[in-house]
Amino acid sequence: MIIMKLKRSFLATGGYSNEVGILGLGTKQFKLPKKEFKQAIILLNYLNEEKSIELIHNYMLKKKIPESMLKKLIDANLIVSKDIEKTDDMDFKNKLYSQAISLDPDIVSHKLHNMTIIIAGCGGIGNFLGYALSTYTPEKLILIDGDKIERSNLNRQFLFKNTDIGDYKVNVLKRELNLRNPKLNISTINKYVTEETFAEIKNFKQNDNYLAILSGDSMEAVKGTTNFCVKNEIPFLNVGYLNDISVVGPFYIPNETSCPFCGNALSLDENKDSYTTNILDEINSRYEAPSSFTNNSLAASIAMSDILQYANGNIENIKSLNSRFGVDNVSFKTYTIQVPKDKSCKFCGENK
Ligand SMILES: [Zn+2]
Repeated sequence: MIIMKLKRSFLATGGYSNEVGILGLGTKQFKLPKKEFKQAIILLNYLNEEKSIELIHNYMLKKKIPESMLKKLIDANLIVSKDIEKTDDMDFKNKLYSQAISLDPDIVSHKLHNMTIIIAGCGGIGNFLGYALSTYTPEKLILIDGDKIERSNLNRQFLFKNTDIGDYKVNVLKRELNLRNPKLNISTINKYVTEETFAEIKNFKQNDNYLAILSGDSMEAVKGTTNFCVKNEIPFLNVGYLNDISVVGPFYIPNETSCPFCGNALSLDENKDSYTTNILDEINSRYEAPSSFTNNSLAASIAMSDILQYANGNIENIKSLNSRFGVDNVSFKTYTIQVPKDKSCKFCGENK
């Protein structure tokens, strides 16, 4: 028999005025009338040390604290069954964050720790997400990008320095991530993201615990990543921005959810005339993506949020599942474009 024990979490905090008390922070914050607030803090104080359920119930009876109070405090993550160890490493705050968003800190950290993560595209989003994921010390990080660092990258690709200009992004990203976390096992491929490039991953074993993150502006990269991930049953997430909307998805889960090409979602009408096409090609060739800190970091943050839900197994909480999910960089309005799983998809369908 497992004896359940409970303890006050690091997230417990509060304040009060004459009439009302407030406990917790963020979406889990709640108000209590003065009398109940007092009961809550007496209970929180008692659980400074881990106690068995039996002891807690006896204490609550003695202090006339109702059962509902314990439930309230557990729901707000102020009392927890699995305490987080306050260690001087990157795990502590990562786990605390998982706890704050009601995930299981051990499951999330363990899952990411055992993953091989492919970062396809090491620009702005690759910098942010490569860094965020590296703090979980994954089994292996594989960095793919054929680009060399240019001065214009330095407005957002925060791990690159002036002295790195002209060097391969993958080499510098590897060096900088290793400086921050020496335990990392990182390999690099300094080629552009195509299906053939993925074939260069050394010791690739199917059915491994893989996750691929794609951030690239070429159609070739999206097609190559989709083909590789579908064939090898690797989950992957497409992350990017459309000028001032940061966009993620669809989060592809093999044999379960849609890929970027489901429902012909990425292609435009084929009916074209050459005059218009020529002019448009000229206009499009001058297009420059307005890549900045805001659209890049926001896209990376949305992606990381979905990756944490994925790592916890909360598939239903992934915002970009079977959809493209975007956030307007100015109004923070959200957009969800449904991309339902398409059985006749040329990339992930039944006859692929
Ligand atoms: Zn598809």
